[in-house]
Amino acid sequence: MTTIAFIGLGNMGLPMSRRLIGAGHRIVGYDVSEAARTGLARQGGHAAATLGEAVAEAECVITMLPTGRHVRAVYEDEGGILAAAPRDALLIDSSTIDIESARAVSAAAAAAGFAMVDAPVSGAVPAAEGGRLTFMVGGGAQAYARARPLLEPMGANFFHVGPAGSGQALKICNNMLAGMTMVALSEAIALGEKLGLDHQILYDVIVKSSGNCWALEKYCPVPGPVPASPANHGYAPGFALPMMLKDMRLAQQAAGSVQAATPLAGAAVALYQMAAAGGYADRDFSAIFQLIAGGGDRTHAGTTPASG
Ligand code: NAD
Repeated sequence: MTTIAFIGLGNMGLPMSRRLIGAGHRIVGYDVSEAARTGLARQGGHAAATLGEAVAEAECVITMLPTGRHVRAVYEDEGGILAAAPRDALLIDSSTIDIESARAVSAAAAAAGFAMVDAPVSGAVPAAEGGRLTFMVGGGAQAYARARPLLEPMGANFFHVGPAGSGQALKICNNMLAGMTMVALSEAIALGEKLGLDHQILYDVIVKSSGNCWALEKYCPVPGPVPASPANHGYAPGFALPMMLKDMRLAQQAAGSVQAATPLAGAAVALYQMAAAGGYADRDFSAIFQLIAGGGDRTHAGTTPASG
């Protein structure tokens, strides 16, 4: 049993911490949201009143926070993880953040005497609930070897991809692709609708054809074909649309820093931006389908083709 401080108990952090509790670890968690802290207590963890209390006796600290700004604050601010955690605690950041922040926090951790890895994940909430996440880890080999058994209850695939920041680099390449694919898939389904095709038959054929992709097979953006997908639950996140927009922007920022051409991703960013500003910000990213298929609230649209 390892005492793990879990910081950030949101859509992902809560089910990830549940997996660790199920594996016999002692979880002391902290989140600024009282509801999230209550959620941890309900599933058998100990909810700390402050960040300092959460990390004070930690052998490992895992963070699962929205952005680089949150991560830097939680690690580097006065009373933060680097000040309050025992020096021999292993630090694991599983948030998806910009490469620069990941490298900066890792360097600050090393300077303070900590071993740290960036370990972002792929797989949405159902994968977190089922312990089927893919972890892409950046950092030293020794730190990876320490992290691996602790990540095990939360994941199915584990990759050590390179030095600090590499996990984040790989993650934003992946999410750039996932974000673009959801847009492309939405265009195809919206076209199929207008051509009179039923969602289920579109799904059944494409999933066995050259257009198949993760967005269709596991996360279909229309109600019906994939029962676990957010489209069947009013597009409740899941992976919130602003979060995907954040990752797409991170990819654009990284592409700019190395002069990589990403024109299709640029067009997808514009669409997610329109959706975020146009009333879809509280929905799952797959709600981009609703914007592309003609707007309006199609939350309960079922398989009825859009009019017009
Ligand atoms: P979320 O917004 O549901 O959860 C983040 C949690 O962090 C919230 O509960 C928030 O209250 C808490 N928080 C914010 N600032 C804090 C602070 N200073 N101290 C303590 N807690 C704080 O987000 P999420 O969907 O769980 O995603 C978390 C990270 O994982 C993001 O970087 C996201 O890009 C990444 N991610 C999400 C998914 C997904 O499907 N949701 C999948 C893969 C990766």
